Amino acid sequence: MDVTYCPKCATELEWKHSGERERPTCPACGFVFYFNPVVGAGALVETDGRVILVRRGVEPKAGYWSLPAGYVEADELAEEAAVRETLEETGLEIEIDDMLGVYSFGREPPTGVLILYSAHTTGGELRAGDDAADVRAFSSEELPHDDQIAFRTHRQALHDWRRARAIVYREANPADRRAIVELTRRHPSVGDGWPTYLDEKDRALLLAWDGDQLVGITCVSHRPLGQTANIDQVFVRPRYRRWGIATQLVSQAISHARNSSVRTLLAEAPETNPVLLVYLKAGFRLSGFMDAYYPPDGAGPVTAMFLAYDLG
Ligand SMILES: [Zn+2]
Repeated sequence: MDVTYCPKCATELEWKHSGERERPTCPACGFVFYFNPVVGAGALVETDGRVILVRRGVEPKAGYWSLPAGYVEADELAEEAAVRETLEETGLEIEIDDMLGVYSFGREPPTGVLILYSAHTTGGELRAGDDAADVRAFSSEELPHDDQIAFRTHRQALHDWRRARAIVYREANPADRRAIVELTRRHPSVGDGWPTYLDEKDRALLLAWDGDQLVGITCVSHRPLGQTANIDQVFVRPRYRRWGIATQLVSQAISHARNSSVRTLLAEAPETNPVLLVYLKAGFRLSGFMDAYYPPDGAGPVTAMFLAYDLG
């Protein structure tokens, strides 16, 4: 990339040391030109189990498929840019669910940083925008081949999406003991009691598998006498988070409770834990809280939020 004249006073720039690097610098007014990555935002929009892709109508990569994405304008938030670009390119109105990832691209200027969000549709009608040659919803089996996807970052996100859709959810059986022991050993926050839950009649362990890898776990514990049960914990291995696995585990727990004639399913979580949002989105209501419920860690005691889901 080349710049010749100072944008402030039009004097010819010179390359001079500024910090660790040489940068175009104005000998007259001292202006320093910094090359920084541009910021892009995009959305992985899921609708009826399909993902929306745009066939690019303009260079670069005309004719290739991509997620709806574009550059963030100086006066908008990254989330707003993702929503605007999706509307412009696909005709769909969306709501952002979560951040999927941040990806750097390019080594030589112009380089960039792409922020990708997961989103769902709230309105609009699927139609290709001005810069798009086509727009379509693909199931995980129908996705275009890798060499038809415009950008590495979009390819990576689509791989993760396809893999997330192949996660298998089921109740644990005694043959899963070794995998559960291994999970609790590698992730002490799960608690070492979990392998013994397998033998307890009033508990059901629900598991999420990526092939032969145990990647997520939750437990429904039935309370004696009453018609209530509680979800003990929802754990997902760190590199599998943001794939919707916790949401699926909670939904499995609700189904399990319903099939066991439970009337109210209870849960609790530290106020700082994002799993709270998973419970609320699944339909749990806040039923109470207790200050300093969890033993203090480095940051001091943490408030517990209590939740309930009525199965009626
Ligand atoms: Zn100048």
